[in-house]
Amino acid sequence: MHRASLVIFLTLALSAKQAHALDFVTRTNGGKTVELAGRIEVEAEDGGVLLLTRDGTLWPLPKEEIAGRRKDEAPFEPLDREQLAKQVVSELPAGFKVHSTKHYLICYNTTDAYAQWVGALYERLFTAFYNYWEQRGMQLHEPQFPLVALVFDTRESFALFARGEVGEAAGSMIGYYSLRTNRMVSYDLTGAAGVPAARIIAILSQPGAERTVATIVHEATHQLAFNSGLQVRYADLPFWVSEGIAIYFESPDLTSAKGWRGIGRVNAVNLTNFRKLAANKPPDLTTLLTDDKRFRDGATSAEAYAQSWALTYFLIRTRGEAFAKYLQALGQYPPLGEVTADERIAEFKRAFGDDLPGLEVEFLRYMRRVQ
Ligand SMILES: [Zn+2]
Repeated sequence: MHRASLVIFLTLALSAKQAHALDFVTRTNGGKTVELAGRIEVEAEDGGVLLLTRDGTLWPLPKEEIAGRRKDEAPFEPLDREQLAKQVVSELPAGFKVHSTKHYLICYNTTDAYAQWVGALYERLFTAFYNYWEQRGMQLHEPQFPLVALVFDTRESFALFARGEVGEAAGSMIGYYSLRTNRMVSYDLTGAAGVPAARIIAILSQPGAERTVATIVHEATHQLAFNSGLQVRYADLPFWVSEGIAIYFESPDLTSAKGWRGIGRVNAVNLTNFRKLAANKPPDLTTLLTDDKRFRDGATSAEAYAQSWALTYFLIRTRGEAFAKYLQALGQYPPLGEVTADERIAEFKRAFGDDLPGLEVEFLRYMRRVQ
């Protein structure tokens, strides 16, 4: 789920990207002054900027916080794996170690075995995700930054850390992906410190653990979407499509070495939720396409997620090519841009045709047959 809340405070004027110069912005906030080095992604008319620092963090900086700016000719370069690992660990409580895989830096204070299990799970998802989209003609790129995952030993230590980033919601979460820091955060899902390696898969393959594992995979899918070029961080993307994709990928087959034999299998929980609601209150496409508040409101979030999954499933299965083109169009949206409800509908119609009522009827009929 999109757990990082985002305040859009900038009126937009996109700058031409200064690809080859390093930008320095002196930020004053709460009496502290720090100089941040990175690349300005967006320059707003009102003097604010969106700065990408070398660790992959995005800083939306309003004019009031900017005490000075300079530039030098050194190129912008992400921190390398070692530098990034060092920085991340320095920001965490004492006792964290780093497990490095091909694409990920797993920063953990769990057992080594658990960190290795998580790293292998994420790598399998990485391969499955890239294969899936490339087979469908999407042009993805390798992540610009090593993908960082923080893994805490207990739910309590996770919640303590997470509260600083996501507030009180941390208490009811299993994990999240932060659009701001570009990091995933979760904890040892086996719930018992020191479970031996051989037992981890056995515990997490039980039916009761399916939703728990699905949650961290869901968050990892968001991270991949925003690091592969499929989506742009802080772009004004419809929630239904970001969430639909994350749910589409979320359930691995833990008993299979490849993990994702069946990407796009029917998501049983969301199909059940979808049907329960569809009986009395059929999904309204216009609302689903335009109203993102439903995802944040506890009273409507289950239906919003279920409908997002269902619409994604339906469109991929019946209009795969159009869906890929639609994603390509959304992938061009700039960070901090604003897209009106009418523009969202127009974008959707460009991909899937003008007849929304007709599509809605077909969608419902299709979902009744899904098993
Ligand atoms: Zn999500």
